[in-house]
Amino acid sequence: MMLAAARRPTRRIDVGRVPIGGGAPISVQSMTITKTADVEGTLAQVYALAGAGADIVRCTCNDQAAAEGLARIVPRSPVPIVADVHNDWRMGIAALEAGVQCLRLNPGNIRRPDRIKLIASEARDRKVPIRIGVNAGSLDKDLYDKYGGATPEALVESARIELGLFEEVGFDEVKISVKASSVPLMVAAYRLMADTVDHPLHLGVTEAGPPPAGLIKGTAGIATLLAEGIGDTIRYSLTADPVEEAKAGRQLLEAMNLRDRKGVDLIACPSCGRAEIDVIQVAKDAMAAFESENLPVQVAVMGCVVNGPGEAREADIGIAAGRKRGHLFVKGKVVRVVPEDEMVEALLTEARLLVEQGVEARLAAADEGAAEEAEKDRAELLDLQGDDANASEVAVELIRKSLDGR
Ligand code: SF4
Repeated sequence: MMLAAARRPTRRIDVGRVPIGGGAPISVQSMTITKTADVEGTLAQVYALAGAGADIVRCTCNDQAAAEGLARIVPRSPVPIVADVHNDWRMGIAALEAGVQCLRLNPGNIRRPDRIKLIASEARDRKVPIRIGVNAGSLDKDLYDKYGGATPEALVESARIELGLFEEVGFDEVKISVKASSVPLMVAAYRLMADTVDHPLHLGVTEAGPPPAGLIKGTAGIATLLAEGIGDTIRYSLTADPVEEAKAGRQLLEAMNLRDRKGVDLIACPSCGRAEIDVIQVAKDAMAAFESENLPVQVAVMGCVVNGPGEAREADIGIAAGRKRGHLFVKGKVVRVVPEDEMVEALLTEARLLVEQGVEARLAAADEGAAEEAEKDRAELLDLQGDDANASEVAVELIRKSLDGR
């Protein structure tokens, strides 16, 4: 089931081998935080980001040493590299010389039309796309004054002016971002941008801050737009290890069914007084165990056997804790009972077998007697705990009777 509305039709550009827009899968981006001149350090981070789900990685190109670093990084990178060009227009040309697959220009930083057009002409000749990256925090002062602040209209006009300069030199391999740290402003600006042009849009809430607040802000802005069909590539902007950005981007797209699942979807009960284990710790251990596995399965960790398997019957596989052991289930059916300290390992082994063999085969391979044993545990726990939290009605009746007699 697709959560988002029909995707907004856009023209397509190619950042290296990654298509953006024109119906291409929505891509995930992140940015290195190393000095780009540190080639080995930056490449290590690029590989980490690619491993965590980034399709494209941006590096700063703020001086000559960075540009020279890019020349060495680009040929060895597993993903296309975007050069972020700040105030020095010459770095745009240097980054193109370095062979980057895309440039990012901020219209608020490089403002002279002749310089912007020169970079666009060079990019055009090399068939390298450019992102027009408008940012509310560094909006052109004239536009700020004209609109009385960084309004959605001001952000969109900034992008359109830059686009006009590009068009003057016959260049339209462009994607656009109109970011702000305010979620409502960013959402309004992207909606307006989407109504105005048919270029692919790069979504992000800029300077969102550290997680969890930064993740929440990023998700609020990006997911709102994606659900409306707006957005062709995304970047979380977190004050954290950028690997967290790449993971968040990937997980958001997978959660919205906008990208095929590559990794685990871990669901876990929130725990309650019935929990027989430390659900939070087991869920964390399970997440850590599955993280490097690339197993596209939905895994449930449930704190008790009373409600666990039933509540998680939609999961591919799961474990529910009870009486110092775990009930391992596939599609809600118990297939094995394992000691408590082996629960996570058992989950991982079963998930690998499930991916290899399929549901039917794993149900057929269930341990004999596992379901009966599990049912016994469950019945005993029901005896101890009461068969339902809603047994409260019985208690209410007892209280009433006892009070009536006084
Ligand atoms: S599965 Fe059990 S422990 Fe977890 S929330 Fe439900 S009743 Fe509570």
